[in-house]
Amino acid sequence: MFENITQAFSDITRTLSGKAAISEKNIEEAVEKIKMALLEADVNLRVVRRFINATIEEAKGEKVLRAVDPGQQFVKIVYDRMVSLLGDEHQGLKLKGPDVTTVILLLGLQGSGKTTTAAKLALHLKNKGRRVLLAACDLVRPAAVEQLAVLGRAAGVEVHRGSAGDPLAIAKEAMARAKKELFDTVIVDTTGRMQLDEAMMEELVRMRELLKPDEALLVADSMTGQTAVDIAKAFDEKIGISGVILSKFDSDTRGGAAISLKSVTGKPIKFVGVSEHLDGLEAFYPDRAASRILGMGDVVSLVEKAQAVMDQAEAEALEKKLASETFTLEDYLDQLRKVKKMGSLKSLVDMMPGMAGQLSEEQLDKEDLKHEEAILLSMTRKERLNHLIIGPTRRSRIARGSGTSVAEVARLLKKFEKSRLMMKKMVKNKKAAEKMMAGFRP
Ligand code: GDP
Repeated sequence: MFENITQAFSDITRTLSGKAAISEKNIEEAVEKIKMALLEADVNLRVVRRFINATIEEAKGEKVLRAVDPGQQFVKIVYDRMVSLLGDEHQGLKLKGPDVTTVILLLGLQGSGKTTTAAKLALHLKNKGRRVLLAACDLVRPAAVEQLAVLGRAAGVEVHRGSAGDPLAIAKEAMARAKKELFDTVIVDTTGRMQLDEAMMEELVRMRELLKPDEALLVADSMTGQTAVDIAKAFDEKIGISGVILSKFDSDTRGGAAISLKSVTGKPIKFVGVSEHLDGLEAFYPDRAASRILGMGDVVSLVEKAQAVMDQAEAEALEKKLASETFTLEDYLDQLRKVKKMGSLKSLVDMMPGMAGQLSEEQLDKEDLKHEEAILLSMTRKERLNHLIIGPTRRSRIARGSGTSVAEVARLLKKFEKSRLMMKKMVKNKKAAEKMMAGFRP
């Protein structure tokens, strides 16, 4: 997700940050590059123009040119604008208390991932302690009902299949059943068609009027870029939606839909689909996504992902270390070993500050990790606990011991220092810290 644009933005921010002075010309060049990157990412043209104009206006002010660290200041402006483009705050679901049934309508075209997403969302809410009933009301796509039944079983969620041949009647039945059997949430999988057509829209409007849902979420395929945005607009105009779930985000290297959606439709992205599996649904956080796009890493998600492998106590200790700068090479080695257990290396590395977009999948084979591990293991524990004592003599000894070169040892140390510094900054970021403290689940 966002691979291409992250690569471009990482280059831009790397060139600018750290510059002691920047001129209006530097800003113009950087903005031109940002424009190209956004256009290549298939971001809506009007959105690009607005973004660029606002950035130039703010960046050319005294604030940037006279700032102590103008490069950083500029990057911050771009970051803030990007967060706002992606929707500012994370928007969670509007759910009622347990005594009243919450109704969530899922809308979308065939193939958008609607049925899969219905089951993912059901599992997500079940894991939050809700009693969920899935209503299978997509009677148009062959086998959609059967598919939902299978996925529901896998998620451990009841599926109401209904006896009638009319989606509205099935939805009514499901509501009555929810009341009787004390389900607090009903997720309705509605009819999808190959393309926008009148009959589908009419049925969905009737469904909406009948159920008066708390959420009407459009599932849109992020890989279709601007088409997804146009579809969202059309659904909102005809039926009215409360938000969007962008599916197949894992396969979307460009990110144009995610970046344009909020400003074109005014509707927030609430979740993204990140795999075909039932647990592949993530809440969408504009600030985290912006960090990723700018190649600043996504420390919070990284820590969260790590929590799945580490136990709670270990993860808390890691957060403390990152914040207090006591994160050592010894911890780095420990992390490196855990990374091997965490699945996709590429996605993990992209979350690391300063690393995003810097390595391709091929470069990132396990051999590299083995090299790093060998270098770390050739250090003494004392060196790993305090990397500052590793001078030139120690570096050549470590290189010899690990069968690598002094340059490789130096590179590792530099990379470590850089990530440590950026991680510290990001963890200290008040907002991130607060969210982390709150357990951080939407
Ligand atoms: P529907 O016609 O809208 O109900 O679409 P489906 O739920 O059947 O999904 C269409 C295809 O997309 C299926 O092969 C799903 O496994 C796949 N899919 C759905 N969501 C995601 C996702 O977030 N990531 C990936 N990689 N595949 C997905």
